[in-house]
Amino acid sequence: MEELLKTYFSAQDLDENAASLQQALQLIREWLFVDKRHAYPPDDFESLKKAFNTPAMPQDGSAFPAVLDALQQQVFAHSVPVNHPKYIGHMTQALPWVSVLVESFIATLNQNQVKIETAYSSTLIEKQVLGWMHRQIYRFDDAFYRDSFESNESTLGNMVNGGTMGNLTALSVALESQMPGLRKKGFLTLLREKDYTGFAVIASARVHYSVKKSLATLGLGEDALCVIPTDENNRIRLDVLEERIAELKQRKVKILALIGVAGTTETGSIDPLEELGRIAQREDIWFHVDAAWGGALLLAEKYRDMFHGVEMADSVVIDGHKLFWVTMAQGMVLFKSDKSLNHLLHTANYIIRKSSGDLGRTSLEGSRRFDALKLWFSFKLFGLKGYEALLDRCQALAANMRELVMDDPDFELITCSDTFILTYRYAPRELQARLKDSVRTGDRENAVRCNETLNRLNTALQDEQKRRGLSFVSRTLLESTPYPGQTTVLRVVLTNMLTTQEDLKEILAEQKEIGAGL
Ligand SMILES: *Cc1c(COP(=O)(O)O)cnc(C)c1O
Repeated sequence: MEELLKTYFSAQDLDENAASLQQALQLIREWLFVDKRHAYPPDDFESLKKAFNTPAMPQDGSAFPAVLDALQQQVFAHSVPVNHPKYIGHMTQALPWVSVLVESFIATLNQNQVKIETAYSSTLIEKQVLGWMHRQIYRFDDAFYRDSFESNESTLGNMVNGGTMGNLTALSVALESQMPGLRKKGFLTLLREKDYTGFAVIASARVHYSVKKSLATLGLGEDALCVIPTDENNRIRLDVLEERIAELKQRKVKILALIGVAGTTETGSIDPLEELGRIAQREDIWFHVDAAWGGALLLAEKYRDMFHGVEMADSVVIDGHKLFWVTMAQGMVLFKSDKSLNHLLHTANYIIRKSSGDLGRTSLEGSRRFDALKLWFSFKLFGLKGYEALLDRCQALAANMRELVMDDPDFELITCSDTFILTYRYAPRELQARLKDSVRTGDRENAVRCNETLNRLNTALQDEQKRRGLSFVSRTLLESTPYPGQTTVLRVVLTNMLTTQEDLKEILAEQKEIGAGL
């Protein structure tokens, strides 16, 4: 025991492990840079389960080099190479190597953001980064940001563990703001006091599932989500929205929030934020913008236009671990008013005292990592210009993919967006022509049949592509296509800096080959 304590808690031991540290560095290097054949683990997940199915914890410890070996063989060897040039299926990023180092700085410092007594400069860095982001969205004058920074009472947002926590935080604030006293008295009491028949939060069919989860968690119930269908561009339908608002009001259902999505997870589409903002203002509803995916585009002037109206939002969620290229998990929720987060204010005598300026006073989470450092480091490293260059590269890659899909008669482009997400499907030309004819002539039965065949084909194709593991795209179901019923689509997220045009061509060629064999 004595031996163990001396071992992992001493500087001398760190020096003695120099060889293992070199090995660790090599492991990182190989994972990040060496060309890997596979873009998805080729081993069968069910078989892998057996290797990890050991009920008892290790009785004796092992030497560091032995654990490192186990890490290499058991973990690294069976992980998803999200940084592979042909891994283009999800929002999980291929990261710059510096981000690995930043993680180790965060671990070294091991600050706890809940209170200044455990987070000195890191409290200020978190406030600084939140201020920077707030300014990118709302563009208040510099005096506002200077005052807010100095003040212990003003809070522009929270750093959170991702978009899900961001949406939960924003909705918690929205609820208390729309129904003062809710956090203390609960829904039942307020329903009785106010003569409402229910509560609703409104969003489009493309809204992220975390919103439903939030409503369930907050006790409103998933059914409180009023889902508005989207148009063929996967944007919320304003005509239906107006109808539903009128209907809810007539039934005395209190509308708590209207959500606009800026970069939907499935298709990358951006809701008409300005129109939504105006409707929210007119109806006196909380306006929340979920920009977990697309929000980073606000860093570049040339992409800002797509977000027109975002400055009307009462709250905005942006994920760092998506288009800011920082490690999992990092998100932000920002509030237009520096007083909004007071709705969540809670204090405890021993740590987060009332006027302390402790970040923990307005956070739903307790102890929290110094994740703000990831963004701070990246912003310093890349600058706004660097981020613009990264985004430009994504745009070029997405345009590339779009052309390749459109130029091939055996593929069909289903959606494309300004936020680098595309959906398409393998649709052999004869079948595609038959489907389109049926839609044109109104032969619904035949259209359903053709579309279902294509759905099965694309599901099988994506399964087989994953099984081979040479490249990876994801798939989803969309109802907002010109075709009857649900349409299975292949989904690509074109933000991997290592992906080349050649890679895209090869991925499509592989899909065509798989498709032809099905
Ligand atoms: C990713 C995403 C979320 C959820 O964020 P997590 O970081 O996965 O918790 C919410 N909304 C949108 C639009 C997203 O793209």
